[in-house]
Amino acid sequence: MAARLIDGKAIAAEIRREVRLDVAAMDAQTGVVPCLAAILIGNDPASATYVQNKARACKEVGITSVRIDLPADLPEALLLQEIARLNSDPAVHAILVQLPLPPHISEKRVLETILPEKDVDGFHPANLGGLLVGKPLFVASTPLGILELLNRSNVGIEGKHAVIVGWSVVVGKPTAFLLLQHHATVTICHIKTRDLAAHTRQADILVVAAGKPGLVTGSMVKEGAVVIDVGVNRLIDGRVVGDVDFPRVAEKASLITPVPGGVGPMTVAMLLRNTVDACRRIRDAGCSQGAAGDYIG
Ligand code: NAD
Repeated sequence: MAARLIDGKAIAAEIRREVRLDVAAMDAQTGVVPCLAAILIGNDPASATYVQNKARACKEVGITSVRIDLPADLPEALLLQEIARLNSDPAVHAILVQLPLPPHISEKRVLETILPEKDVDGFHPANLGGLLVGKPLFVASTPLGILELLNRSNVGIEGKHAVIVGWSVVVGKPTAFLLLQHHATVTICHIKTRDLAAHTRQADILVVAAGKPGLVTGSMVKEGAVVIDVGVNRLIDGRVVGDVDFPRVAEKASLITPVPGGVGPMTVAMLLRNTVDACRRIRDAGCSQGAAGDYIG
C-alpha cells in the first residue's frame, strides 16, 4: 500500500484562515482583538526564530503580539515579576515563555507562575492536570495539532489502538491523554520500553515523538496504519527529517505525515487558535477588565 500524505501545511493554512475570520468577527462585535505576549530570554538564535515565526503568524491573522526580550542573566525573581505583570494586564490574553530557559531559572516555577487562563502553551500544571480529568483550559499546541490532523483527515479514533513513542510533557503524554479522551486504546512507549517493534506493529495510529531519526522502520509498522511523525531532526548534511524511515514506512501506512510539512505547521496554527480561545474565555468571564489576576491557582 502506498500511503496518502497528510498535508499539515495545507491543514494549518485552513486553520489560520478560520482563525483570521474569528479574530475579525470578534473585533467587529466587541472591539477586542486577542493579544499574545511572548517572552524571550537570552540570545539563542533558534528560540529567537521560533518567537519571530509566532509573531509573524499572529500578524497574518490579526492577533496582536507583544515580544518581551530579556537578558540571559536576568534574575529569576525579575522574570516572575514580569509574568505577574502580564497576568494582571487586561490587554494581554495569552502568555508564552519561549523554552529552553537559562540554567539558573527554574522552568517549573516559571510555568507555574503563568495564569492558567493565559497559558496558551498548556504547560501549567493546572492545564496538564485538567487533561487528566478531561477539562483543561488549554492543551499544548503540538498534541492539539496532531488531533486536528487526524480529525481533518477523517481518521476515526474511537476503538483504535494508538501507540505513542515518547512520553514528554510537551508531546507524548498530552497526546496519549487526548487520544484516550477520544476513546482510543493507548500504549505509551519510551526509551526503556522492551521490544519497541512489538508495540508499534500493533498500532492502528502510530505517533512517534522521540527525536531519533530512523527510529521507526518499515518492518515496525502494521499494513494500513496511520503514522504521525512528530520528530524534527537536522542531519549533518543539513536535511531535516522525522523519526520515521519515511520511504519504507510510507509503503505500508495508509496515511502519513511528512517532515517537514506535517505536524510542524500545525503547532503554530493551534497556538493561534488557543490565543483566540483565551481572549474569548477571558472576555466571556468578564475578566478582561482586570479580574483575570484574581485567579487562585
Ligand atoms: P524529549 O526528548 O523530551 O522526549 C523524547 C521521548 O522519546 C522520551 O520520552 C524518550 O523516552 C523517548 N525515546 C527516545 N529514544 C527512544 C527510543 N530509542 N525508543 C523509544 N523511545 C525513545 O522530546 P520531545 O520534546 O517530546 O520532542 C520529540 C521530538 O519531537 C523531537 O524531535 C522534537 O524536535 C520534536 N517536536 C516537534 C514539534 C513540532 O511542532 N513538530 C514540537 C515538539 C517537539
